[in-house]
Amino acid sequence: MFESKTSSFTFAFVVVTAPISHHEELTYAIPEAFQARLSPGIRVLVPVGRRKMTGIVTRVSTSHDLTDKNLKDILDVLDEVPIFSKEMMELWQWTANYYMATLGEMLSTMLPSGLRSESIRVVTPVKQATVKDSSDTSAVHGMHRPTVEPNPLQLSIGEKTVLDFVLARKRVATKTLGRRFPSLPIGKILHGLQAHNLLTVREHIPQPRQPKAASAAPAKAAASAPPFRLSAEQTAAYRQITAGVEAGTFRVFLLHGVTGSGKTEVYIHAAQTAVRSGKRVLMLVPEIGLTHQLVERAQQRFGSQVAVMHSSMRPSQRRAEWQRIARGEARVIIGARSAIFAPVSRLGLIVVDEEHDSAYKQEEGVRYNARDLAVVRGRISSCPVVLGSATPSLESYLHSRSGRYVLLSLAQRIASRPLPEVQVVDLRLQGRPAQPSRVDRIFSPALQHGLVENHQAGHQSLVFMNRRGYANYLQCQQCGEALLCPQCSVTLTWHRTNHALRCHYCGFSKPPPERCPSCSSASLKDSGVGTQQVEEALGQLMPGARIGRLDRDTIRRRGALERILDAWRAGELDVLIGTQMIAKGHDVPRVTLVGVVLADISLNLPDFRAAERTFQLLAQVAGRAGRGDEPGRVIIQTYSPDHYSIRAALQHDFSRFADQELDYRRQLDYPPFARAVNIRFEGADSEEVVAYAERFAESCQALIQTQDQAPEVLVLGPAPAPIEKIKGRVRWQLLLKGEQARALHGLIRQVRHALIQEFGPTKPRLRTIVDVDPYSML
Ligand code: ADP
Ligand code: ZN
Ligand code: ZN
Repeated sequence: MFESKTSSFTFAFVVVTAPISHHEELTYAIPEAFQARLSPGIRVLVPVGRRKMTGIVTRVSTSHDLTDKNLKDILDVLDEVPIFSKEMMELWQWTANYYMATLGEMLSTMLPSGLRSESIRVVTPVKQATVKDSSDTSAVHGMHRPTVEPNPLQLSIGEKTVLDFVLARKRVATKTLGRRFPSLPIGKILHGLQAHNLLTVREHIPQPRQPKAASAAPAKAAASAPPFRLSAEQTAAYRQITAGVEAGTFRVFLLHGVTGSGKTEVYIHAAQTAVRSGKRVLMLVPEIGLTHQLVERAQQRFGSQVAVMHSSMRPSQRRAEWQRIARGEARVIIGARSAIFAPVSRLGLIVVDEEHDSAYKQEEGVRYNARDLAVVRGRISSCPVVLGSATPSLESYLHSRSGRYVLLSLAQRIASRPLPEVQVVDLRLQGRPAQPSRVDRIFSPALQHGLVENHQAGHQSLVFMNRRGYANYLQCQQCGEALLCPQCSVTLTWHRTNHALRCHYCGFSKPPPERCPSCSSASLKDSGVGTQQVEEALGQLMPGARIGRLDRDTIRRRGALERILDAWRAGELDVLIGTQMIAKGHDVPRVTLVGVVLADISLNLPDFRAAERTFQLLAQVAGRAGRGDEPGRVIIQTYSPDHYSIRAALQHDFSRFADQELDYRRQLDYPPFARAVNIRFEGADSEEVVAYAERFAESCQALIQTQDQAPEVLVLGPAPAPIEKIKGRVRWQLLLKGEQARALHGLIRQVRHALIQEFGPTKPRLRTIVDVDPYSML
């Protein structure tokens, strides 16, 4: 598919953004007037059933096997020049194929919502023409007003209600009517009113509104930051990357640099080379709000040539920014995960900062991984790709060991600053008083001492606690019952400041019961600790200190994240307590102490990457200390001080951790040594879910047995997902492992196909989610 244009065409193949069962491409006739303008990659408006939809032309042709005289016409051509370049078309197809999505699903993931408008149905009153009575004042407005007249038409109450509403508003979307009058049969009523010739219903394409200001964050004066003189290590890395940029060759560099070694500076210098030679640069970061400094530094160097795509943009801004990029007006494009699909042409360099971060993995819809797609895009566009991290993913590290990626190392911190000294506190050995105070329960003497001392010295401290809320959960001291979410199989988290028990999966919330729902005793007590409680305890430990908290709960309001981070950077806070958000790339020189309240939380997750995540988190959070002139210190509290991930973090020894972890992964045949696809089955009816999951697994097994020369595929499960229920939906899963992705893909396609034959197209009450290279298997 995706052929290019040659002569005059009469048929076009189009993919629309909505998934239309199995038909990947729809065929349309091209009206004479559009023939010169149509080519692959251009957006068109096409009729699909009763609706009109935006689609992208994948190919055009003079002959069509169906020779169907009833082919519908393309209604409109929406772009002057194709919105998707050849490279984007290739990325689109590759991604859909690899992540096992339809082209339509993939398209809605790639295009910002403003560029894939669908028609809506709009109701308007019929013009006055039919009304004879000229004394009717509404005739001035050309409107028929049956309600102020006798009612010769015998309208029902429902019809009158709807008609009045439409007359008052002049134009109403049918969706709005449905929402406004949920108890009325809107379809039937509109039918009746149309039959009486009082209303008309039309398909309408909403015209996206233009954003007010022409995007772009205020750029700092380009001269305000004198470029650094790169260190020897930085220079060596920069030279290799630049050679790739200048030659325009695809090559992947793994830039492994300890925290504070100046990776960002290497990205920016390499980007400058690309921009100077007229090329564009795409930079991905895990989360824009938390990587302020990269954006700031890029804006200092590139001014208004920077385009920033962030998640809090309004749809109109996002669309405007997208189009600005498509027109080639931005030279350096910075964004989170979805920016991997930005329509950048003449790509000269792709950078993925903090490449190990799981935020690159999309966990809804098409479950793509932007880090992996960066490599694919670099290959398609023939440009170098830089994956940077202090704690590379094992996938990337393995590739660098095998020579597929070029390893660039920054082993030293800038200005030879030492890495912080790390101390591990073994919580098992804590001699505890019989009735420990809360402060003593949360902070060991060593951490208490460290925090108080650091504050007295006028320095800042960071306290890491990877669980939000007040306590973990409420538990009955009599019978042991823990309070669970009624819709999800997880404990409710106790948020004391809001006096609520909240489910972190579905948002369910309720006040705490007085008595245990199981044994009725009044002995519910909080158990486990969350950030809220640590914050309170810190207040008791350090009465005079200014304490801030950073977690999903404190940044709900727009601008809150920036306020907290600004105060922290400006030194207006002495202590910042938070979840893993505080582990990301802030560069605050006065932070000299980092405390980890409980390192075990991420270690105990039922996930084969638990050790890897723990090491990454500890190394990253520790890396926040001692980035200024004063050396830093880290205190880690844990019940598992001998765990290899904690021991390696203690010594800042990435390769020691990685080599040991790779050994385990190899023995157990886990990624990066095997490919995995997780298939999840979700539905309200538990029996139905289990039966379908089992049928799927049986089909897999049967197929594997018939294909004797096929490479080995291992089928694990089906089994209930670790969180067996979310929002009332039962979840089961099946893990497929194999040496090659292609074998897994092929098997799943065949099984899917067979099951569609057996059960018909997807059962409406059952969802099957295919997750290629899964990250979260909870
Ligand atoms: P990383 O991204 O590896 O954690 P950064 O790029 O944030 O490191 O650099 C750490 C600090 O050192 C920053 O404050 C940065 O401005 C500074 N820095 C980076 N490179 C140099 C250099 N060559 N000379 C002086 N300071 C530098
Ligand atoms: Zn829930
Ligand atoms: Zn009880």
